[in-house]
Amino acid sequence: MSFLEHKTIIKEGDLVLAFIGGDNLKPIYVTPGQSVNTRYGTFSHESMIGLPYGSQITSGKGYGFIYLLHPTPELWTISLPHRTQIVYTPDSSYIIQRLNVISGSRIIESGTGSGSFTHAFARTCGSKGKVFSYEFHEPRYLQAKKEFEGHGLTNVHLTHRDVCANGFDVKDLQTNEPFYADVDAVFLDLPSPWEAIPHLQSVIAKDRAVGICCFSPCIEQVTKTIEALQKNGWIDIEMTEIAGKKWDSRKEMIREVDDAVERLKDIQKRQAEGIEKKKVWIEMNKKQKEQDVANGVPLDERKRAAQELKEENKRKKQQTERDYGFNPWGKGKRVMDGDENYKWFDVSRVGSELKSHTSYLTFARFVPQLKK
Ligand code: SAM
Repeated sequence: MSFLEHKTIIKEGDLVLAFIGGDNLKPIYVTPGQSVNTRYGTFSHESMIGLPYGSQITSGKGYGFIYLLHPTPELWTISLPHRTQIVYTPDSSYIIQRLNVISGSRIIESGTGSGSFTHAFARTCGSKGKVFSYEFHEPRYLQAKKEFEGHGLTNVHLTHRDVCANGFDVKDLQTNEPFYADVDAVFLDLPSPWEAIPHLQSVIAKDRAVGICCFSPCIEQVTKTIEALQKNGWIDIEMTEIAGKKWDSRKEMIREVDDAVERLKDIQKRQAEGIEKKKVWIEMNKKQKEQDVANGVPLDERKRAAQELKEENKRKKQQTERDYGFNPWGKGKRVMDGDENYKWFDVSRVGSELKSHTSYLTFARFVPQLKK
């Protein structure tokens, strides 16, 4: 399994992203004998082997299902184990486009952090490109190394290094011989990028324009970064901030005046029935309690029986709701969006702000022949 290619069938050891709902995705390394617990039930890893990615599986209890998705950088960003703040897709996609990263591009990225952005860079650069990623925190470096190997990111060259102190020069991972990285674009997600900027000259391309983006949460960092960029010959400096929002589009049912009348009648009916049913239930419960006390049933046992009765009552209530049929405003049987037995119109609404670690993005370019 690799983030750089697509495979169809899930095999033992593969990474599957279990889509549970909304932004809830669980990464699973398919291991026979293990299972994943969700609020929709328990799903054994074995049941996933041999299925095509994208399959929907049920928990066997008939009420819950999940989807088995093929990993992508975007889904990984939502589901990865956080070791640091991460770059989210609204920022990474914009940065990739602004830096003109394409198949074959050679990139510098530091720090690696949780590897969220590394996956997006690696997929875009593809097998013809290279991502030179640097992390100075050893446990994070080791974890990232393991993850990149497991995810088939063969185009990522990971180095354990403090780039502010020791720069970006790279060595061949097999021979340990230094080589020229010749990079097209640089992305710095560091607390003090201005200390790393002077070290870039020896690794960036000498025959074409190079782009840079520095990701900083504070405006004071931006100011210092801009000063360092100017001092080191970078031009076209521009600062941008991404504030992404979700737009929800869905169908809404057209409700007529007659529906409102139906709704009022329904409320009255339910109130009358509900009160009657509640009276009967309280009476039954009271009698049962008296009988249990008289028969010497222990307190624990009585509590358990009361809980069972409560659950049974809840089940019956849900069944009654389903049997009631559909009421456009009331409780009752659910209707699928777009059901052709009802009238609908399309609505689009601005939703919540997109999950992202809001930072200022400082972009610049270095054009070798303009260097004084
Ligand atoms: N962009 C990453 C992602 O999307 O997952 C997150 C990067 S995280 C915010 C910043 C990382 O930079 C941390 O893991 C930190 O250890 C590392 N770091 C900080 N200063 C560094 C330096 N001088 N050299 C190398 N890594 C550094």
